[in-house]
Amino acid sequence: MLAALAALALPAAAETPPPLIVLDPGHTPENPGALGARGIYEVDYNDRFAAELAPLLRAAGWRVVLTRERGQAMTLAERADLANSLRADLFLSIHHDSTRDIFVTPSEYEGRPAQRTNGDARFRGYSLYVSERNPQLGASYTFALLLARRIRALGRPPALYHADLLYGSGRPLYDEHHGIYRYDNLAVLRRAETPAVLLEVGVLPDETDEAWVSTPANRHAMQHAIVQATLEYQKSRFYRAAP
Ligand SMILES: [Zn+2]
Repeated sequence: MLAALAALALPAAAETPPPLIVLDPGHTPENPGALGARGIYEVDYNDRFAAELAPLLRAAGWRVVLTRERGQAMTLAERADLANSLRADLFLSIHHDSTRDIFVTPSEYEGRPAQRTNGDARFRGYSLYVSERNPQLGASYTFALLLARRIRALGRPPALYHADLLYGSGRPLYDEHHGIYRYDNLAVLRRAETPAVLLEVGVLPDETDEAWVSTPANRHAMQHAIVQATLEYQKSRFYRAAP
């Protein structure tokens, strides 16, 4: 009887493809983003993080598409359009953060130009962004919140300085405890028709945070947190869809 039930269930399960997440490593070689305390540009951190995260997501049952491969150029519009054309279930853009220019000093690391903060602990931590111009704001926010809970459970603090008028740009925070910002005009988020979140993993000109994101065990913990959050997000969709 159980075997018969399983036989009934299998075809239906087989017809439903695994959920699809589009991972977007931010920036390009020509526009490499923030310069860090060890003289390495953000794009390298983004590419490495996405390359490590993709197989973990696949092992958890996701289909994973990267918007761009290491060394490849791609516009912001093309990234969102790719997710839209694939009808992705989730879009996650991976970035690493910086500060305002007045809070960093040019420096050198092993002969490379670098830049550093003065060690002010406010310039540390992760942050998350969603856009009210994204048509799936509610789902995007749910995913951001699940991500934040998992990341905070690692003991990692949210970076709140972007909300400050002096230390940041006065960006509105939806949720200070979870480090979730509102950033309506972020191109990849507003253009995406899928639920879309941007994650800043850490702050590169801060030596402490740069060391944190450069430690494989820390990255793995954060990537595992992201995988768990995506699975919780899938469950939340199931419950929302239930009558
Ligand atoms: Zn960036």
